Amino acid sequence: MDITQIRNATLVLNYGKKKFLVDPFLAKKETYRPFPHTPHQDKLNPTVDLPISVEEIIQVDAVIVTHLHVDHFDASAIETLPKSIKIFAQSKKDVNKIKKEGFVNVEALTNLSHFGDIHLHKTNGKHGRGVIGKLMGKVSGVILKHSNEKTLYIAGDTIWCDDVQNAIHDHNPEVIVVNGGAAQFLQGKPITMTKEDIFQTYIASQNSTIIVSHMEAVNHCLLTRKELKNFISEKGGSNNILVPDDGESLSF
Ligand SMILES: [Zn+2]
Repeated sequence: MDITQIRNATLVLNYGKKKFLVDPFLAKKETYRPFPHTPHQDKLNPTVDLPISVEEIIQVDAVIVTHLHVDHFDASAIETLPKSIKIFAQSKKDVNKIKKEGFVNVEALTNLSHFGDIHLHKTNGKHGRGVIGKLMGKVSGVILKHSNEKTLYIAGDTIWCDDVQNAIHDHNPEVIVVNGGAAQFLQGKPITMTKEDIFQTYIASQNSTIIVSHMEAVNHCLLTRKELKNFISEKGGSNNILVPDDGESLSF
């Protein structure tokens, strides 16, 4: 497989001879207001440009949308993706919302979905703790399996929790993409993985390679790549935890 970190949680994935686009957030730099009640209200979203053109990014066979927050499926994605493209979403509720935008080929992920000969297993997650976690709503991740590929787990917008631990235990993924950034509101704990959460994921799956996405692209993500890399190298996980720049591709 090849995984290209595009920007925020947006990935382009070559897997089992198919090309997937994950969580398309395709607006130009500084299109949207900052998320309300979050730090850095002086920054507009996304805070950085796309590393390649939208036209190139959307040349895929299918799209996976882990949840419907704007930094995972935005107006620009709705406008530019072909309305006939295959889209996998986390639930019937999300499927209906995406169909209302004019997309006609949208399917809810289940415990065993298929795209050609690729198996897709929906996973759960927790987008924060307590009241804020509830307000963030339901989120998903996905496990991909194919006879000629390593097992891949894309965890989505989740903190380290039982759902992540169970997905690792049940599917033994060799490659895991987690959403870092330690996004947070002015109150409460982070709603995406902190450096400690990322290290915990590594401890739970020491034979896997962890790829950290969702970094340095929206106003309320406070963890930088530099801080994360320093933390990992102090802890001794640099060989297994990769923090790609936007536009960087990794092969497994
Ligand atoms: Zn997000």
